[in-house]
Amino acid sequence: MATNRTFTMLKPDSVEKGNIGPILEKITASGFRIVAMKLTQMTTADAQAFYAIHKERPFFGELVEYMTRGPIVAAILEKDNAVEDFRTLIGATNPAEAAEGTIRKLYAASIGENAVHGSDSDENAAIEGAFHFSGREMF
Ligand code: UDP
Ligand code: MG
Repeated sequence: MATNRTFTMLKPDSVEKGNIGPILEKITASGFRIVAMKLTQMTTADAQAFYAIHKERPFFGELVEYMTRGPIVAAILEKDNAVEDFRTLIGATNPAEAAEGTIRKLYAASIGENAVHGSDSDENAAIEGAFHFSGREMF
């Protein structure tokens, strides 16, 4: 079932560099409404579960280290065509390949430390949102 919601995380590098404000400004200026949001930190078990699809990949250990090293901003966003439009807004996984003006082009350092997460399907958006938020935290 298609929905109009996606899930994002401003990853630890974005929080460390003071980029929460500029990134949220870009997200809301692009027409996304914030439905849920919090500053939180994932445990190792959380990150292993969240990224379980990548557990056989060579970068999995580094990814879990990175995503747990400090707080993140987790958020659910609403817009028509949210999943696809948000992936367009953030740009390619590797910032060297990301289009001009995308969040990863502007704020990501490398393919590993790439500033933001964006769900890749409506199904995963729902799963990932529910991973971080209860029903009472969604508006
Ligand atoms: N990642 C990495 N090395 C890679 C590919 C991915 O460290 O070669 C990290 C990166 O932080 C990425 C995350 O793993 O955002 C999840 O990878 P995915 O392929 O799902 O990319 P995304 O959907 O975030 O663009
Ligand atoms: Mg992905």
